[in-house]
Amino acid sequence: MSKQCPCCSGKSYQDCCQPIISGAKLAETAEQLMRSRYSAYTIYAISYLLDTTHPSTRKFYKAKEIERWAKSSDWQRLVVTKCLDGKVVDRFGEVEFMAFYLDSSGAMKVHHEHSNFEKIKGQWFYVDGEIVSSI
Ligand SMILES: [Zn+2]
Repeated sequence: MSKQCPCCSGKSYQDCCQPIISGAKLAETAEQLMRSRYSAYTIYAISYLLDTTHPSTRKFYKAKEIERWAKSSDWQRLVVTKCLDGKVVDRFGEVEFMAFYLDSSGAMKVHHEHSNFEKIKGQWFYVDGEIVSSI
């Protein structure tokens, strides 16, 4: 049995995020890119996270900080709650998701974010996101 993808798609890792993170294929939709970035957090694929950040906002992200956050959190599961555009034919897309994790004290936390994506020359990039306040 192959390992389930960390992004909770229900598919195996090698049929889901693995080929995207390894560079074997490009994410076709904004949601696929978002899922692969979540999976990248769970395996600390820091350079992938930087490479898939939009060139205009990449300067705001530091590899060390991404790594610290990725490693200080014990990623539990991902729930994609909303998608707007971001399909194969689109140039822009928005994805809202909840990423559940245990913090360093073992408390269950949720990172609820509304993210924006843009496709440049056939490749999706994470532009920016805002935190959605949870109830
Ligand atoms: Zn996946």
